[in-house]
Amino acid sequence: MKNLEPMSNRYIRQINLPGIGKSGQAIIEKAKVLVIGLGGLGSPVAYYLAAAGVGNIDLLDNDTIAPNNLNRQILYDTVHVDKDKANSAIERLRAFNPDINFNIIREMITKENVVDLTKGYDLVLSCVDNIGARKDINKGCVINKTTLVDGAVQLFSGYVLPIIPYKTPCYNCALGDLADQDVPKPILGSVAGIIGTIMVTEAIKILCNLESGLLNKLLICDFEEMTFNKVQINKMSECKVCGVDSSGLSNQ
Ligand SMILES: [Zn+2]
Repeated sequence: MKNLEPMSNRYIRQINLPGIGKSGQAIIEKAKVLVIGLGGLGSPVAYYLAAAGVGNIDLLDNDTIAPNNLNRQILYDTVHVDKDKANSAIERLRAFNPDINFNIIREMITKENVVDLTKGYDLVLSCVDNIGARKDINKGCVINKTTLVDGAVQLFSGYVLPIIPYKTPCYNCALGDLADQDVPKPILGSVAGIIGTIMVTEAIKILCNLESGLLNKLLICDFEEMTFNKVQINKMSECKVCGVDSSGLSNQ
């Protein structure tokens, strides 16, 4: 039987959510967000941002698709192996939701470019696979006062950390002691899917000024034990990124 419902009803099931409504949907549709990394986290993150109707989504990646990406990077088909990630992603996402203005940024995050690349967004989602890039993205977002949702996965575990610069602890306050790893750890694809979708859920709530429940907290998920722990974290006044004496910036 033919579905007579108009396409204008696309978002009706979320517009009817308490706290979103038409005004929240208008915020979502005007929002400009940046997804850094189109891998295991970036795939569900980009998909669900597009599903929600986030109006302007920039996709930052300069990698190509390898066969071993496909256990978790659900934006890509088998025929996309060896092809460009950003091009393949944008093709899929445009077909999924043609209302959205997608834009490719074909870069790798560096200390030198991160401040420019994270400027001008309502929110950034950090979906990278290494701690060095996470630290750089955190620094860029703090300098630009851009809200950041960071997430990470390895083995059967992951975390989500939303950061509102100068209001909540930054990555360095929360996890600055973590050392980078040379070799990527194994990962179950569905674990990246769960953490990515939690990241988008937090991002949409923050955009719509809904209570996050995760501000000043780190959500640590263990999918072997199937536990979700919200750990209180605190801003460090001496933080070298967001603290009083951080590179000429004042603590605001
Ligand atoms: Zn900090």
